[in-house]
Amino acid sequence: MLSDIEISRAATLQPIQAIADRAGLPLQAIEPYGRHKAKLDLDWLAANPAPAGKLILVTAINPTPAGEGKTTTSVGLADALNRTGRKTMLALREPSLGPCFGTKGGATGGGHAQVVPMEDINLHFTGDFHAITSAHNLLAAMIDNHIHWGNKLGIDVRRVVWRRVLDMNDRALRDIVQGVGGVANGYPRESGFDITVASEVMAILCLANDLHDLEARLARVVVAYTSDRRPITAADLKASGAMAVLLAQAIKPNLVQTLEGTPALIHGGPFANIAHGCNSVIATRAALQLADYVVTEAGFGADLGAEKFFDIKCRQAGLAPGAVVIVATVRALKMNGGVAKADLAHEDVAAVERGAVNLVRHIENIRQFGVPAVVAINHFGTDTAAEVAAIERCATAHGTAAILCRHWAEGGAGAEALADAVAALADKDAGQFTPLYDDELSLFDKINTVATRIYRAERATASPAIHAQLERWQAAGHGHLPVCMAKTQYSFSTDPLQLGAPTGHVVPVREVRLAAGAGFVVAICGELMTMPGLPRTPAAEHIGLGPDGSIAGLS
Ligand code: ADP
Ligand code: MG
Repeated sequence: MLSDIEISRAATLQPIQAIADRAGLPLQAIEPYGRHKAKLDLDWLAANPAPAGKLILVTAINPTPAGEGKTTTSVGLADALNRTGRKTMLALREPSLGPCFGTKGGATGGGHAQVVPMEDINLHFTGDFHAITSAHNLLAAMIDNHIHWGNKLGIDVRRVVWRRVLDMNDRALRDIVQGVGGVANGYPRESGFDITVASEVMAILCLANDLHDLEARLARVVVAYTSDRRPITAADLKASGAMAVLLAQAIKPNLVQTLEGTPALIHGGPFANIAHGCNSVIATRAALQLADYVVTEAGFGADLGAEKFFDIKCRQAGLAPGAVVIVATVRALKMNGGVAKADLAHEDVAAVERGAVNLVRHIENIRQFGVPAVVAINHFGTDTAAEVAAIERCATAHGTAAILCRHWAEGGAGAEALADAVAALADKDAGQFTPLYDDELSLFDKINTVATRIYRAERATASPAIHAQLERWQAAGHGHLPVCMAKTQYSFSTDPLQLGAPTGHVVPVREVRLAAGAGFVVAICGELMTMPGLPRTPAAEHIGLGPDGSIAGLS
């Protein structure tokens, strides 16, 4: 069995110009970055409008350590749609360096369903994350500099909410004391670092309509408060212009290819907890303009990823998805049914049936958004026919087809049945997409709506201080914003150990944060890690250069 990087390296990549041609992009519409990557020219896209294709969202059951394979399935499905004669493009997130060197590995799919060149995409790619890191940290530097030179805006140094970011898992930087070493180094204060994908600048880049909207959103970012709680913005610090300049290249979508030559736009990668977890609006719109079908992915399970894709991204960008694919695996459903990771290789139909309550709840939840869904069973070598049949029975009993897919082993050829089913759903135009709640609902009622209707909790709770904070933001004109729920990805509840389909739980809101530039209010429920750490044995220990200088061990 070849590793992902061995399969990727064995592939013969087409020049990026050929991929652009396949997508209907003439030479003047792309800016090549080397031989196999290019950025799209936004002016060309604006000057060549076209009817929009159908948008297909790939989401999943709650993630388990068994792995579900949303990216792998997105790639396999897009390849299969092309193989069956449908003009299709992918729109995916850019991977973060943190997980590449930590536990999870890269995010370019796996087996014979990958986007390439995987080393480039997983590592520095076209520099977008570096640009985002720089823009974010420029603002941080300008805050401390403003305080150092007299603090004319009256920033309360205890109420600076803008931290610094780095695209690395580094727990030592979570909480720091900065500005030590004497008067010349500024004011000592407590602060810390988040990983770049948690930066509001990342969320802004992914939700902006164009460069001007990007700058306007950056200007609205709240970085600190005065002692009488007046917000200080990036505009007050005159930082948004320079930040937008740093992001002028990064805002252009990146074009690459799958192993089978399907054009793929990979652009932006916000976290799916503190942010909304999907690739940029600009890339999704560009793909919809170029292709008849666009396959895109949202982070984590459908309770977080799909809900935010609908309620934040689609709402803000006016997108109407045509179909949803819910990825499930025998292994992950067995874990939801109580089987330990070490025992996953043994057939256990009863455990699959027990765990399927998780899948059923996601099916019912997607229905609440008015978009038709199909289940993709991502096939692993250890699955048995009886276990697969159990998933099929359960999905069918709840009005949804479940289709076995072998794209990881076979590439697009292994997902043709899924492609036919998805295209049939999308072509029917039967979807009546509606977000879960109206803009007019109060911020807390929005949180409570997601908690009760998606997580099936009894209710959401919050302290009087949090209610007061939400009311202050409403009074300041932020009440129309959607909410971005930050909770564990492993459970419908806020307890990562409650798998399956828990009921009767309460969702305690521990903290709320305003992302005025991105355009949402974050509700933090339970522990939230915005700067991950490395595991005891990080993947980095197994990554290195082979004798011929090629990269080994990256997955
Ligand atoms: P997600 O997008 O849901 O996080 P990925 O598609 O990135 O998941 O897959 C996670 C890991 O699981 C990858 O390393 C991938 O190679 C592996 N994987 C996915 N599908 C399969 C499969 N059917 N068989 C074996 N490994 C798989
Ligand atoms: Mg993924």
